[in-house]
Amino acid sequence: MPFNLEDLQQHNSGLLNLLTEHLPDMLWVKDLDGKYLYTNKAICDGLLMAKDTEEPIGKGDVFFALRERETHSDKPNWHTFGELCFNSDQVVIDTDKAMRFEEYGNIKGKLLYLEVYKAPFYDSEGKVLGTVGTGRDITELKNIQLDLQESLRILEKQREQLEFQANHDALTGLPNRVLFMDRLNQFIELSKRTGKVMAVLFIDLDSFKEINDSLGHDIGDKVLVEVSNRMKMHMRSSDTLSRLGGDEFSIILNNLTDTEDITNIIINGMESFKKPFLVDNNTLHISMSVGISLYPNDGDTAHSLLKNADAAMYKAKQNGRNTYSFYDEEMTKKAYERIFLETELRKALKNDELTVYYQPQMNAGNEKVVGMEALVRWIHPEMGMIFPDRFIPLAELTGMIVSLDRVVMTKAIKEFKKWYELGLNPGKISLNLSIKQLEEEDFFDFIKELVESSECLFKNIEFEVTETQVMNNPEESISALRKLNDLGINISIDDFGTGYSSLSYLKRLPINKLKIDKSFVDNLPNDPEDSAITKTIVSLCKSLSLDVIAEGVETQEQKEFLLANGCSLIQGYLYSKPIPAQEMQKFLEKYNKR
Ligand code: C2E
Ligand code: CA
Ligand code: CA
Repeated sequence: MPFNLEDLQQHNSGLLNLLTEHLPDMLWVKDLDGKYLYTNKAICDGLLMAKDTEEPIGKGDVFFALRERETHSDKPNWHTFGELCFNSDQVVIDTDKAMRFEEYGNIKGKLLYLEVYKAPFYDSEGKVLGTVGTGRDITELKNIQLDLQESLRILEKQREQLEFQANHDALTGLPNRVLFMDRLNQFIELSKRTGKVMAVLFIDLDSFKEINDSLGHDIGDKVLVEVSNRMKMHMRSSDTLSRLGGDEFSIILNNLTDTEDITNIIINGMESFKKPFLVDNNTLHISMSVGISLYPNDGDTAHSLLKNADAAMYKAKQNGRNTYSFYDEEMTKKAYERIFLETELRKALKNDELTVYYQPQMNAGNEKVVGMEALVRWIHPEMGMIFPDRFIPLAELTGMIVSLDRVVMTKAIKEFKKWYELGLNPGKISLNLSIKQLEEEDFFDFIKELVESSECLFKNIEFEVTETQVMNNPEESISALRKLNDLGINISIDDFGTGYSSLSYLKRLPINKLKIDKSFVDNLPNDPEDSAITKTIVSLCKSLSLDVIAEGVETQEQKEFLLANGCSLIQGYLYSKPIPAQEMQKFLEKYNKR
């Protein structure tokens, strides 16, 4: 049955008219294009601003929205109901479902919220003809709801502020003692799980009382703020700095792998205090005394760690202020030794105190020298010869290893070249290479330049990299080592057996040789396990077509065992300790001139 307006109006009996015209709710009927077929008085007055219920017929919401916008043209960006209503009509028609919407827009300069219900209606064959709808003004309700939400937000903010105030120092904004102890307890729990070392630093400013007394509390307060700012700059994001009160601060350093880190952080922090503080035109020199306690060594509760850090701080004060002290005296001694050694090593590099010793690598089958390992020795002007075990780890930690290795390489390659020229057939020169070196962009150029300018051959150079270092970063190592290997340089894996190589990496690494670690050689031939490991490494090398050498060979029995099991390359005290260059030359003359 075709649909038309007259049909509809016929159905508008008197009773229905009475209802729709007097209800406060808005009622309407629209066709498929969103044009009004029917409107009651409430929608004409409250939403459409139509002069009577006839005016909207045949027009859509967009028409009224535009008209409303024009009457308030001073506010062109006003959101109006128009498109919103049209779109929700379409949704109802497209989905063929009755739906509830919340619609809002500006009417007569005010924001109006409507709760709207829209439903499709059909002809007798079930075809959708348009939509019917009701709308109710819920602006007041909505405003109450919005006010309530705003009040809750303010309350939440105040609660946060109160909580912050309860846990923070008002002057510096740093965590206070309460929060500090709380965090400390949390970090103790964390360290229990990770097994990592944690340090508590107790810091007391050295001359704060004098500043307060002579310049007044205002300046004193400003100093404390400046001090806390400067401290913050030297901390990692995971560290917690707090003000315990007065001029006392405390820091939790967690997640430490090495106690060396602590000394570094403290030294840097103290170093940063050397620059004077400028406060209200006063130039102030401020230093601090730092006490350190370590978890788990010096205590396993927040209370004991803080107490012991405090006690250590007093020791630092007694030691003349502007210094630090560990709770454990032994640690303080070690830290000082390390700082001393670091300074001395820097001087050593500058003053050319490093020299190279050589340890022959022999072919035990024919008793010829096939190469030699360059091992650094530090000849200190007062302390005499210092062995690498004492300073290589420090050099690694501080990055000095990069220059150190380059010094050794330069000296060794030059000396080694001479032995070639003398016809001593020194074989290959093995150079220990720290993996840190490979992270230096210019290393590749450095070594190329060095080898070429010394007129040495790449194939006579061998780098020893330790298994542990390579396996810490296998992918990067593989690509860096490949570049060197492509030049013709040999790569040997040092201390093999002490790290955790996976076979798949071993296959991919561009290597030529494995060096069986001394710890396995030590107990040959009697220890069944070490014998088995040694044999396994030798056969691994066979199957991967790698050379194999044993280090730390001291006895005839060890040598015989190795020879019998297919490892003829040998390095160790049995043949020679590491020796200075002149002696190495004599050694070559003795073995290789025969
Ligand atoms: P390494 O590379 O495993 O060197 C072998 C160490 O074992 C050397 O100690 C050597 O003197 C010692 N050794 C050799 N044969 C025997 C033996 O038969 N018995 C015993 N008991 N010891 C033996 P050194 O020279 O003190 O070097 C220690 C470590 O320092 C080296 O271990 C190496 O890791 C590192 N190193 C030495 N020189 C350098 C260098 O120039 N650069 C780098 N990055 N590391 C170096
Ligand atoms: Ca080595
Ligand atoms: Ca080794």
